[in-house]
Amino acid sequence: MTSESCFSYSKPLIAYYLAEKIKLDDVYFKKQSFYITNKVNLRLKSEVKQIDLENRAVVVGDNKIYFNKLLIASGGKPIIPKIGIVRGNSEKLDNLQEPGNAFIGPTNYKSIDGVFTLNTLEDVVELRNYIKENEIKKVSILGGGLIGSKAVEAFLEIGLKIDIIELSDRILSASLDRKASGIIENKIKSMGSNIFTENTVDKIYTEEQKITGLMLRDGRKVDCNLLVLAIGVKPNLDFLSNSKIKLNKGIVVDSYMQTTQNDIFAAGDVVDSLDIILEKDRNIAIWPLAVRQGAIAGANMAGKQREYSGGFFMNSVEILNIPSISMGLTNLQDEADKNFEVFKSFKPEENLYRKIVIKENKIIGVILVGNIERAGIYCGLIRNKINISNVKDNILMEDFGIIQLPEEYRKHLVVGNGIEV
Ligand SMILES: Cc1cc2nc3c(=O)[nH]c(=O)nc-3n(C[C@H](O)[C@H](O)[C@H](O)COP(=O)(O)OP(=O)(O)OC[C@H]3O[C@@H](n4cnc5c(N)ncnc54)[C@H](O)[C@@H]3O)c2cc1C
Repeated sequence: MTSESCFSYSKPLIAYYLAEKIKLDDVYFKKQSFYITNKVNLRLKSEVKQIDLENRAVVVGDNKIYFNKLLIASGGKPIIPKIGIVRGNSEKLDNLQEPGNAFIGPTNYKSIDGVFTLNTLEDVVELRNYIKENEIKKVSILGGGLIGSKAVEAFLEIGLKIDIIELSDRILSASLDRKASGIIENKIKSMGSNIFTENTVDKIYTEEQKITGLMLRDGRKVDCNLLVLAIGVKPNLDFLSNSKIKLNKGIVVDSYMQTTQNDIFAAGDVVDSLDIILEKDRNIAIWPLAVRQGAIAGANMAGKQREYSGGFFMNSVEILNIPSISMGLTNLQDEADKNFEVFKSFKPEENLYRKIVIKENKIIGVILVGNIERAGIYCGLIRNKINISNVKDNILMEDFGIIQLPEEYRKHLVVGNGIEV
């Protein structure tokens, strides 16, 4: 069951639909006939409000739906900041004491026309309609992280100008370092868009419930007819607040993806799971891990025994024909720290950058900008914790590949399970 009005689709692909690269039908995993043929009881628009552990049922409206085994895969929801609203003529906007001033927040941001999140298919359908109906030429995006960058990618693709407002000193600060972000930022700026770093939106201006402008923290005013809030996501846990299921930032699960309650499993953006680089459980809200965890949970629920061995953060974006990918730990507090070795090659005139972070002869972080062809190989080396001491000299080669890999690992690739990307 899902609170949404449509059946299962790919969230990464909704950004492509926003970019008009694919059709609406292409975002769905399966056609409706799949659910009918396989006798899947689809309950759309069915938000679970609570789990009744005693009676082993989920509560949807006034109904209880009973289960033998339950998978919680409720994903994440956008974090909505509290932002002041100044209504009326924007000339009067500096007088923030006037009556009628209010705030937008998680419960009411949709009441202002032109304020959106980018999380569901419905968001994207509404965004596309709004852009067309209001002949939008420029979009403001609050947040330059994973979702913000997906929005940037899509809006630039359809020819809109953008203003990015980002709290940190650069976009994609969690996954890229200064050099990598710099390449992408320069390209965005060279196309006539703006990036306001170390900044945020203090207030929005509205006329007749429609957004007309922004006041930034540094006092600058920005015209704005469309604002996308993309400052991050958090696990969707509201319906679990009174349950005995143990929660941390996300749901606590064991290596079989079972929660602290028997027969109740959880997977995806809603769980905390093992980060093999940081060697601790944490919430890593990315697609490949959600898919792997879901498959493992499903197998265990069906009576098999499969264990999740952990994963690590990665992010891939392509902005204005500059592809980039980052994996693992890429931002060290101190690059001179003797516990780490950092290899870098930087060719700004060609928009090329690669950085490999190594700890105890194992790769723990990679940034590739401009040429991401060998990403899968680095990913395998991180995942399989391969000792690369013999190939360090070649690690930055543009064509770093199988031939440079340690012999034992080459054999593993041929006879083993291969690299999982
Ligand atoms: C625009 C966008 C682009 C992205 N691009 C990438 C990418 O390129 N690479 C990448 O790795 N990751 C990407 N992600 C993240 C990726 O989509 C998520 O990691 C993945 O979708 C998580 O899957 P999930 O099944 O855990 O949760 P979700 O896909 O979020 O699905 C959760 C579902 O549960 C429903 N639900 C929630 N609460 C309830 C309730 N109480 N009752 C009933 N139903 C409920 C939700 O409505 C939703 O349908 C992107 C995300 C977005 C939004």
